[in-house]
Amino acid sequence: MTSKINILIIYTGGTIGMIKDYKTNALKAFDFSRIVEKIPELEQLKCNISSISFEEPIDSSNMNTDYYATLVTIIEENYKNFDGFVVLTGSDTMSYIASAVSFMLENLQKPVIFTGSQLPIGDLRTDAKENLITSIEIAASRKNNKPIVKEVGLYFEYKLYRANRTTKISAEHFEAFAAMNYPPLAESGVHLKFNEHLLLENKNQKAPLIVRKKLVTDVVVLKLYPGITVQVVATILQIKNLKGVVLETYGSGNAPNTSWFLNLLEKAIQQNIKIVNVTQCSGGSVILGHYDTSFGLKEIGVISGLDITTESAVAKLMYLLNEDLSTEAFKTYFQKSLRGEISEK
Ligand code: ASP
Repeated sequence: MTSKINILIIYTGGTIGMIKDYKTNALKAFDFSRIVEKIPELEQLKCNISSISFEEPIDSSNMNTDYYATLVTIIEENYKNFDGFVVLTGSDTMSYIASAVSFMLENLQKPVIFTGSQLPIGDLRTDAKENLITSIEIAASRKNNKPIVKEVGLYFEYKLYRANRTTKISAEHFEAFAAMNYPPLAESGVHLKFNEHLLLENKNQKAPLIVRKKLVTDVVVLKLYPGITVQVVATILQIKNLKGVVLETYGSGNAPNTSWFLNLLEKAIQQNIKIVNVTQCSGGSVILGHYDTSFGLKEIGVISGLDITTESAVAKLMYLLNEDLSTEAFKTYFQKSLRGEISEK
């Protein structure tokens, strides 16, 4: 006889956990401990579902790295007793949160699936039920008595993505997320189909889970736009204690090749500030040196973010900056796939 799969739902906040009080029309928090009662269809999944909620659920706009640490601590404390985790957050910053969590959990051997919804769980036309039910099904899916997914995923509107490849693309449509540079890990239609060849395989299955709770927050995202001034760039690069910059460039990693711009960046790099080049395009990769307008960046030591998303680049910077790496090692690690977040050249 096989024992039931144990799934832990972690509710941090966001629309998915809201129901309407039909007397007042106001949205109020949903009691996840009564989830199976409220969504009886969950009985059919044949798993034990438990839940934990943040003491004070938050809108995901209020997320920060302390909350990330709370979240990974909940996973760490419950790792042995559960077979899979479903994390509910608001969708607005879900890609940032889930990307960071993917770096904070090393040697993950169990599914951690993020989901949320555009409409509250109690709404007639809600997308919350499908997102939640299928996320639980994914977290409970096994093959040869082992979990199929052993990484941090993000499930929304019939698709499971690698979380650290995603971006929120719509504030309106149920299809709120996309992963432009990596195909879906699973698709839910009449059948739930996993693209198994795309899933992360942890080579060292015996390695214990390592949970990293400390991230360096002295980072900034500098998005270029035609007309950006020397004052703006200089002021940003002079931020006290600044350690890392995600430089959002044009196209395949291009930026002005004016001397004031390159000089400012070079000076920052000499002060040991790590600068990573990420494209503003939603798909495709940075190719440093491909055009004259990125050649200078390469020369002064800007690190190529290849096809990483901005969300994931912020998370990876915060993670690697805490690791006390030499300049060369930092570059090597940044350009290497640590959790499947980047397509190595
Ligand atoms: N503002 C909400 C949040 O991100 C939206 C959502 O739940 O999707 O927390």
